[in-house]
Amino acid sequence: MSSCLFCRIARGEIPSKKIYEDDDVLAFHDIHPAAPVHFLLVPKLHLDSLLDAGSEHEALFGKMIGLAPRLAKELGCDNGFRVVINNGPDGGQEVFHLHIHIMGGPRPWKRL
Ligand code: 5GP
Ligand code: ZN
Repeated sequence: MSSCLFCRIARGEIPSKKIYEDDDVLAFHDIHPAAPVHFLLVPKLHLDSLLDAGSEHEALFGKMIGLAPRLAKELGCDNGFRVVINNGPDGGQEVFHLHIHIMGGPRPWKRL
């Protein structure tokens, strides 16, 4: 079993403020929000980052991008939102389990 932080959150071993879950993905609020609405969408499958992704993951990523506006709107981001994926050390990634940041809410708020 992976001791990765987001794998442990996905298994329910570490609590999170969950927004959405299905067999493939989990969405939960970021612990240090950079915007009025800031949540993370993660695949349950462990991938370090997009650097590890291949064509076999395209359906999963398509599903995640499709979920992003749906969940953002459910949380009140009707006026737009920002999507960020940090990849690898030079991409500013800190947690090495692939995740999509979704940020929204009334501006101004800090850019990530
Ligand atoms: P990264 O820099 O890797 O793209 O982003 C990692 C994000 O995970 C950060 O925005 C950070 O606040 C968030 N984060 C780190 N640890 C936890 C945690 O234990 N729970 C939650 N909900 N978010 C976390
Ligand atoms: Zn993981």
